[in-house]
Parts: sequence; structure tokens; C-alpha cells
Amino acid sequence: MATDNTIGKFLLAPLPYDMQALAPHISEETLLYHHDKHMAAYVSKLNELVGGTLYEGMAIEDIIRQAEGPLFNNAAQAWNHEFYFATLSPSPQLMPSGRLLEAVNTAFGDADSLRQNMTQAAVALFGSGWVWLAADDRGALSIVSKPNAGNPLTDGLHPLLAIDVWEHAYYIDYRNARADGVKALWQVIDWKAVGLRYDALTGK
Ligand code: MN
Repeated sequence: MATDNTIGKFLLAPLPYDMQALAPHISEETLLYHHDKHMAAYVSKLNELVGGTLYEGMAIEDIIRQAEGPLFNNAAQAWNHEFYFATLSPSPQLMPSGRLLEAVNTAFGDADSLRQNMTQAAVALFGSGWVWLAADDRGALSIVSKPNAGNPLTDGLHPLLAIDVWEHAYYIDYRNARADGVKALWQVIDWKAVGLRYDALTGK
């Protein structure tokens, strides 16, 4: 996550596409609220909480691994949202490929089974939270469900893909129908971005 070192603040990363770019799967209104209101508030609160503490100047991943309470919540939510938005694209690669695809096939059978399992986990997660595709140090994949701001970094795992199941991620477009929101999300998840993370992790 980018910082302004002159003032020691974490920065709100701009969306890597236009607000209208993910429609009709995710509307301009949803992105406006999700990025400019919800995510912006997490980054702002993170900066407010971290000032003057032993966490000041620490990498955000280390804050997530070490902090608790409101500082953990806001650091993780800031990180999770930057990661989530960076995974989406108006021109996504709709299937995993290369070494990531091999790992998906090993862990889940095939890419459709992975999608079904993550969708089921997203629908089943009670309340707010995140469903992750994560890898261990050897590159083995797993699906990780976390309540609230949870992130697999705290389990020593490496996040590859995140589904935001907080209501603010889908309520404007899909109201209470979380499953419809997740189904639409798959249309804008860019497996190229996920694959690049996996390749970086596994040294390729
Ligand atoms: Mn969110």
C-alpha cells in the first residue's frame, strides 16, 4: 500500500478503472460508495489510529499481522479493499491459466469447482467478512473464510483473491441477494492479476 513518506500517511489508491467501467456487473453508484466512502474511511481512520503509536512507519502487512482491535480492523480493511479493487477489471481474463491453473486443478479439481466452492463459502459466511483464495509458502491453495476485516496474512498465508461479502459491496445493485452479487463479481475478476500474484509468490 502506497504511503506519503513526507507526512507518514497511507494513501487511498485510486481505482484502476473508471467508476462506470464494471457496469452492469458492479454499478457506478456501488463503486462510488465502496471506494470513495467506505474504503476512504478505512484509510483515513487507519492514519488517525496509527499516528504516535509503535506501529507508525511500519508496513501495513506487519500492522495487520501484529495489531488488534480498531487498528487491525482499519488496517486490514484498507489493505483488503486495495487488493479487492486491483483484482477486478473491465476486460478480465475469465479463467486461471499457467501455473496457477495447475495449482487450482490440484486443489479443487478444476476452475469451475473452485468458483463453486468460493461462491458457497461467500453465501454461507454469516454477517460481514471476506472469502479468500490463499496460498501457503509452497504454493498450495486453499479457501479461507474470515469474519469482519479478516485476512489470511494472520495465518501466515498469502492472499491471491478476495470476495468482499460485506453488504456495502452488493446491496445497492443486488439488495439482499448476496449470491447474485457474487455471481456478477466473477464476471469482473481478472485471473491474470491473480496469476501474477501466484507467479510472484512461487518465484516464476
Ligand atoms: Mn467492502
